[in-house]
Amino acid sequence: VTRRSLTILGATGSIGKSTLDLVERNPDAFEIVALTAQSNVAALADAARRTHARLAVIGDAGLYAQLQAALSGTGTRVAAGPQAVIAAAAEPADCVMAAIVGAAGLEPTFEAARQGRRLALANKECLVSAGDVFMAAVADAGTELLPVDSEHSAALQALAGATPESIERIVLTASGGPFRTWSREQLQGATPEQALRHPNWSMGAKISIDSATLMNKGLELIEAYHLFPVAAEQLATVIHPQSIVHCLVSYTDGSVIAQMSFPDMRTPIALALSWPQRMNAPTPRLDLAAVGTLSFEAPDPVRFPSLTIAREALVRGGTAPAILSAANEIAVEAFLARQIGFLDIARNVADTLEAAEGRGLLAAPDCLADILAADAEGRRLAQSLLGRYV
Ligand code: NDP
Ligand code: MG
Repeated sequence: VTRRSLTILGATGSIGKSTLDLVERNPDAFEIVALTAQSNVAALADAARRTHARLAVIGDAGLYAQLQAALSGTGTRVAAGPQAVIAAAAEPADCVMAAIVGAAGLEPTFEAARQGRRLALANKECLVSAGDVFMAAVADAGTELLPVDSEHSAALQALAGATPESIERIVLTASGGPFRTWSREQLQGATPEQALRHPNWSMGAKISIDSATLMNKGLELIEAYHLFPVAAEQLATVIHPQSIVHCLVSYTDGSVIAQMSFPDMRTPIALALSWPQRMNAPTPRLDLAAVGTLSFEAPDPVRFPSLTIAREALVRGGTAPAILSAANEIAVEAFLARQIGFLDIARNVADTLEAAEGRGLLAAPDCLADILAADAEGRRLAQSLLGRYV
């Protein structure tokens, strides 16, 4: 096995920690080039020490001295600030794990996409907001893009060897989140604590809320559209509360190929790191007799309108997905801060898209600068509309 060099953007998050766990269990397989975080100096310094990282970068420039003190005498170089996070993505490495959450990941992930090496992509907002522009950057650089999101990792496997004409549908599964069986009245009063308690996956706060609203599945539809050779109508979702089957691909001959695994992100992370080979991941093994039942149901568009809103943004095109993602980030923050109710998250996103369309803000973006401008505008609009829901 040749040792591969790896940079982790967002090393202190849920995906970042799972990636580090795999790296530390396979010390001969990887060497760490750079690790980044936003504000968690202690966890970043600790991870850099353990893995002998060559570079540690903290996004909050005010924490430079603290990080330097924590890593003095270790041989790990230290840097700080948003530009240093972007520069970390450009450090020569065989693979970059892009696991910064939200639009904050746009510029560093783009930088990683320009390197012409392997990009293990966890940050979904980048593909959602920048879609075509991002895929063009990947293609121009000859970067090898591997999805980390479990459904897309599953699709990659179920699509192995497929010709585009033979694919009928790609169906992404959704757990349904903690509120799958709740009524609309109950949803109105749902608290951040309840929304953060995901039944199957342990994840960062933002994606946990996205799973509760089903916006996460909406974002994933948009991701799948850009990653795989299918039209929007060929993409579907199904609720599968056990989160064992992650994606199903149906073919023109009636065959359906599904991928299964215990819901643990170390499985898709391992695949993105080792593809086309497989490495060991210390995840619980799937025992179908113990699971007993795998069930499936159609998503309810009335209680969970986010899925429809996201699909409409995908079909609308232009900057609509970027505005959708930006508004969703603002709405999720406002919900977590108890400024708006749970059902207001989807309302805020829909209202922002409508306002943006009314102002002629959805024209097709040409470059990253256009995406960043749309993101900023989406945030401003979403923020200005929050007062409606109180
Ligand atoms: P977390 O919130 O757990 O971690 C986010 C990471 O990004 C942390 O390292 C954080 O640093 C860093 N970060 C936060 N803000 C900034 C910023 N402004 N600039 C630079 N770095 C920043 O997120 P997750 O690991 O859950 O998710 C990461 C991405 O992966 C998301 O896009 C998510 O949608 C996607 N994803 C996650 C899955 C999961 O199971 N968690 C599954 C599929 C996709 P610090 O700790 O210092 O704040
Ligand atoms: Mg997913």
